Parts: sequence; structure tokens; C-alpha cells
Amino acid sequence: MRLFDSHSHLQDAKFGDETAAVIARSREAGVAGILLCGYDAASNEQALAIAGTNPGVFPAVGYHPHEAGTVTAGMLAELESLAARPEVVCVGEIGLDHYWGTTDPGEQRELLEAQLDIALRVGKPVSLHSRSAEDAMAEVLAPYAGRARTAGTVPGVMHCFGGTLEQAERYTELGFLVSIACVVTYPKNDEARRLAAGLPLDAILVETDSPYLPPQRLRGKRNEPAFVRDAVEAIAAVRGVPAAEIAEATTRNAERTFGVRALALAEVA
Ligand SMILES: [Zn+2]
Repeated sequence: MRLFDSHSHLQDAKFGDETAAVIARSREAGVAGILLCGYDAASNEQALAIAGTNPGVFPAVGYHPHEAGTVTAGMLAELESLAARPEVVCVGEIGLDHYWGTTDPGEQRELLEAQLDIALRVGKPVSLHSRSAEDAMAEVLAPYAGRARTAGTVPGVMHCFGGTLEQAERYTELGFLVSIACVVTYPKNDEARRLAAGLPLDAILVETDSPYLPPQRLRGKRNEPAFVRDAVEAIAAVRGVPAAEIAEATTRNAERTFGVRALALAEVA
């Protein structure tokens, strides 16, 4: 079975010097592709460095909404030159987060819109973080998706989507894919399972958001790309199909979205 973890932060300090071992374990678990997302200047550079030496690991660069208010025009110009590199497959993680309230919503929106413009100019999809900001997000993304459609590019992915099936459908109608994280295994998260059961299969990606959000059997521990399999198995269970079918479909969806070739079956377990 081939799996694709569509959102991970392997450069996070919680992985220490274990990155190589974590990637090796992911291959043993069948992970054929990992999108490695940056969130600030240092983590963007680290994403490029780790991906550069690990086949099947693809870098994304962006400024997380927690960075709003600190990102200068010069930093955005630097981001654009990184995003334009051929090995960079996505602009992310970017978005809106009104839950933590640590940065100003207006500045978050300005930062998001600047990065959506960068994505359109470099012709790459985006990986979007949206928390407690559904209405503002929809307002920003509708015109962006229209411009992406005109340009003939996939608009991107709603990462670790935490909304309802109906909210997800607003995004899939705009051409976005919806990424389901290991939170789909949490006993109380019926909404995530409803989402996993109801979305069309060609609109679903899976992810770990590692080191965050481990599956239920590892609550409180560090998450890693190998555990994306837990999300795949939970989705397969609610849809009543074999896990291999969900694995292959979500891997193909990721390859199409990010314009990449994941590792072949012979290269993973
Ligand atoms: Zn993330």
C-alpha cells in the first residue's frame, strides 16, 4: 500500500536529530510521499534542506498566520523566490487562525492574500490552515479559486479540516481538496467521520500534521508520518472499503494536486 502524508513538519524541534529514523519508519509503513510544510523563515529553509536529501519528501514554503504582523515586504519577496524553485511544490502553511487570538485578524488576512498572490504567480497550490475563521476564509478563497481556475492550476488543500461536511463542500465546489488528519480516530470526533464518509473520494487527502495530533492509540505522544495509516484505516472503516483503496486514491490525489510522483511501491513497504 502506498500512503501520502499531505502535511507534516519534520523540521520541528520535537524530532530533534531523529529525522532520518522517522523517514525510514514512514517508508516501512508504506509512506511514499510526504509534504513538508514550513511556517516561518527558518522552517522554510529547513523544509528545503530535508526534502533535498530525502526522495519522496516534497517541500512547501509559507508564513503561518501566527507570523502575521512580523512578515516584511522583503520577507515576502524572499518567500516568492523560494516558492518559484522547481523543487518547491506548494505554498504553505498559510491561512487564518482566529482561535488563538495571538495575531491581528486584519494582518492575518493581508498576509494570507499576499501569499495567495505569490501562489498564483508561481503557479502552485496552497496548503491552508483555517481555525475559527470559516466566514473570513470563504470570503478570501472564493475570488482566489476563480483566479486559479482561470490560470488552470489546482487551488490547493484545506489542511486538517475541522469544519462540517457542508462547510467542506463549499471548498470542494471551489476546486479545493480536503485533508483529513488522524483526529478522525478520536472517539468523540463524529463530525470528522461524517466528513470522511461523505466527501467524494477524489477530493480527499490524508495527513498527520506531525509532530502534532497523533492518532487515538498514541494520544499525548509525538505524531510522525508513519501514523497517517491510522487516518486511512479510519476513513476506510466508515466508507466500508479496503484501506488499500483509500491509500491509493489519496496518494494519487496528492500526486495530482502537488504535481509530483511519490515513491513506487517497491521503494516502500
Ligand atoms: Zn501544520
